[in-house]
Amino acid sequence: MLRLHNTLTRTIEPIRPLAPGTVSMYSCGPTVYRPVHIGNLRSFLLGDLIRRALAWTGLSVRQVMNITDVGHMTDEIYDRGEDKMLLAAADEGLSPEEIAAKYEAAFHRDAGRLGIIPAEVYPRASAHIAEMIDLIGRLLDRGHAYVDAGTVYYDVTTFPDYGRLSRNSLDQLRAGHRLAAVDHHKRHPADFILWKAAGPRRVVRFDSPWGEGYPGWHIECSAMSIAYLGERFDVHTGGVDLAFPHHEDEIAQSEGALGHPVVSMWVHGDHLLFSGQKMAKSSGNVWTLDRLEEEGHHPLDFRYLCLTSRYRRQLRFSPDATGATRPARRRARRPRSGTCASATLSSTTSTSPGPSRWCGAWSATRRSQGPNGERCCGTGTGCSASASTPPPAPPRTRSCRPGRPSCSRPATRPGPGATGPRATGCGTPSTNWASRCPIPGRARPGAAGARAAARCGTGR
Ligand SMILES: [Zn+2]
Repeated sequence: MLRLHNTLTRTIEPIRPLAPGTVSMYSCGPTVYRPVHIGNLRSFLLGDLIRRALAWTGLSVRQVMNITDVGHMTDEIYDRGEDKMLLAAADEGLSPEEIAAKYEAAFHRDAGRLGIIPAEVYPRASAHIAEMIDLIGRLLDRGHAYVDAGTVYYDVTTFPDYGRLSRNSLDQLRAGHRLAAVDHHKRHPADFILWKAAGPRRVVRFDSPWGEGYPGWHIECSAMSIAYLGERFDVHTGGVDLAFPHHEDEIAQSEGALGHPVVSMWVHGDHLLFSGQKMAKSSGNVWTLDRLEEEGHHPLDFRYLCLTSRYRRQLRFSPDATGATRPARRRARRPRSGTCASATLSSTTSTSPGPSRWCGAWSATRRSQGPNGERCCGTGTGCSASASTPPPAPPRTRSCRPGRPSCSRPATRPGPGATGPRATGCGTPSTNWASRCPIPGRARPGAAGARAAARCGTGR
């Protein structure tokens, strides 16, 4: 049974799926206005590793990862009516939709190069506005939200458990807010936006009961996780920097609207460091997979580097450290058997859930298992085999001489259990223990009487 650290309880707990045999998991996905960097990819790799570990224990996983193509912005630029998507669109001379499509495709390409098993569904925020409006309506009905000039705020003082995940208290948040920009429409400094009224320069806007506007970032994960995984699900993953405020706000929204806990286990991966700092676009110390490849590294070198550290520890990245993993990575990648080169799942970026398919290629190593019992070696990338039923195992062969399965030389002594006089066995592998060969061979395990004097089956 897989055990993981639950950020909510600060303890290591076993994953006990609510539905027998299937773990439901939601992973915070990329905001598609720029290429993801390898720090982002380390966070996404966490979900992949959990999936593979669960598959190893015989559990299937239904994973949902959101694509944020609208509404991801900081409080500071909220007030200017701009978000990162729009700024990128202006910089590149593309529409917001073109920017989102471009970087969503880039994200899938990078995740594939890193050997990350695709999620079952990648819902886009822009396609789930109705679900978000419905959830905000429920929060208003239950007294957890208020409207001010077309903008809907979450009132954190109405949710007593606010701060339980991040160990923040409302007093701490009020004190810490003195240095930040102040939104005078908020009743409490920690209140956050559920729906923002669109300003005059806003290009992407949606109708709502509170006027034209667009959703906040936090509400999209609450709405889409409930829409795809139901009102209770097993695991929620993300980078540690998402624990506050994003996941704290998500708990307040989901539990505030439904009135009961939604996520059983919160799992967070720690930062990737470069030059002593968290890798982040704002720090200017960003590496992408493209840059790694340009400098002669294989993407799986970076994957291997991630595997050298526990997911809850900060990992120091450097090009040299990445290069140093190459010999070990190459040894691990050496094919062991079978034809499968990847644990690739077919997946789509559609907004509706669909079945996952493992590539289904047979591997005797059986290092991974698909949701329906298919087995796949999961050792690399590039597999394009379609799903199929594993071929039947080859017929078992027996040798007259134990320990020499392909022996073609005469045995020098009879195998254990032989009843005849001391004689030689031909040693030829046999598929039929009830053959007529007179030469004593190794006893068939479990057989009794004269039949225990097995024959090699060649008829000689
Ligand atoms: Zn999220």
